[in-house]
Amino acid sequence: MPRVVVVGAGVAGIAAAVSLVRRGWEVLVLEARSSVGGRASSVWDATAGEFVDCGQHVLLGAYTAFFATLQALGTRQLLGAETPLRFLFCEESGQFLFDAGRLPGRLGFVAALWGIPGLSRWERFRLLWALRQILTGKIPEMTVAEFLHRSRQGKRASSTFWQPLTLATLNAPPEEAALSLLRTVLREGFLRDAEAARFLVPCRSLHEVLDPFGRWLADHGGELRLNTLVTGLEFEGSTVRAVRVSPDGKIPADAVVLALPPWSLVRILPVLRRVPEYAGFLHTLRSSPILTLYLWLREPLLPAPVCAFAHPDLHWAFRHPTRFGAEKVSLVVSAADHLRDLPYRQLLERCLRAFATVIPAFHPALVLHQRVMVQRTATARLTPELVALRPSGKTPWDNLVLAGDWLQTGLPCTLEGAARSGQVAAARIVGESDH
Ligand SMILES: Cc1cc2nc3c(=O)[nH]c(=O)nc-3n(C[C@H](O)[C@H](O)[C@H](O)COP(=O)(O)OP(=O)(O)OC[C@H]3O[C@@H](n4cnc5c(N)ncnc54)[C@H](O)[C@@H]3O)c2cc1C
Repeated sequence: MPRVVVVGAGVAGIAAAVSLVRRGWEVLVLEARSSVGGRASSVWDATAGEFVDCGQHVLLGAYTAFFATLQALGTRQLLGAETPLRFLFCEESGQFLFDAGRLPGRLGFVAALWGIPGLSRWERFRLLWALRQILTGKIPEMTVAEFLHRSRQGKRASSTFWQPLTLATLNAPPEEAALSLLRTVLREGFLRDAEAARFLVPCRSLHEVLDPFGRWLADHGGELRLNTLVTGLEFEGSTVRAVRVSPDGKIPADAVVLALPPWSLVRILPVLRRVPEYAGFLHTLRSSPILTLYLWLREPLLPAPVCAFAHPDLHWAFRHPTRFGAEKVSLVVSAADHLRDLPYRQLLERCLRAFATVIPAFHPALVLHQRVMVQRTATARLTPELVALRPSGKTPWDNLVLAGDWLQTGLPCTLEGAARSGQVAAARIVGESDH
């Protein structure tokens, strides 16, 4: 049986391994860390006595590749049930409920948009017209902000709809985010059908859903080796023969999938910077941070399970089940460039101040315990320029393919993008796909 070495046990590596095992290949997965999941992993919080994710993750019903991977592992049901998109938008001047569940399918989303208060009738028509144009028109690539300007979206439509949607789904501000990706989110997600548009905030940690991968792999004749840092590859002509691991090991391979983010990949394979398909992307690449502040509270506080805010230091808040205190809340700031380098104390103070502004009932004395997660390289910042340069994952070497959320999947950098890239990488290894 040919042996594939998959480097990286993030979602892309796990999806690649699952697909390869199902095609009858023997798979060895090498992971530098002591647990799987990569950017979708969790850490143990000793004070709360529970796992906390390295950042809040939210999923859509459209995540078919990711869910298929979890189905294989037998953990899909642990995530909980998907629901129609429903959140409370909290402003200093008041609150409104965005509820896409009042009518079926896309009608529900459109009706919720129509119901945003404070828009004139003209602004509402312009918003729906812009949405229609995005979905059906032949609009050239541009930033979301350029499109909003061209389609004459007012300040309120931007601050209550376009900006939160762009930040949450693309981890980039409208001024930088690529319109083509927002179109994909709307077409394949919120406006495709009732199933795809459903929304899921995991009710268990990502650790619980991904950790069974090691056991699953072993049960299927493969192996997961944790704490194994890959340092390079050994080539013979245009073929990879072995994977080098720290400190001085060498593992022979018939084929290799490097399921790594670009910033780790170039350390193992620096020559990629000179490969034409990759050079432009790697040169232009910038990462985009996400900040998540977890608060364990003495009393229930959040007025709804999901809240959105038009505040620069606070975009979303999610309520989670917990046994420590009355309520656990995760506060999220996407594209958090302005916060990423602040000292811990200052960061915390700013986020708590923002929370008190949007939820006046909040007081720091309610906090039993807190934990800040700043992921500086949460995703690539996919600007129109970078989207055009996204590589396919194929390489000039016969038996080496890449996987990862940053590759040309047509999707934003997400769990679904990572899972799809892993499946495509597996299909390439077994020769089922040249695309
Ligand atoms: C804070 C945050 C919030 C997010 N929110 C969402 C969300 O709401 N919805 C959504 O869909 N997506 C979200 N994402 C994005 C999602 O987590 C990523 O797109 C996805 O996890 C990327 O998976 P990957 O396998 O491509 O890469 P990674 O998860 O980075 O996996 C790469 C793996 O390779 C390992 N590795 C690196 N170098 C080596 C080496 N030399 N040797 C061996 N192993 C190595 C790493 O340890 C890691 O396990 C979020 C990400 C973050 C950080």
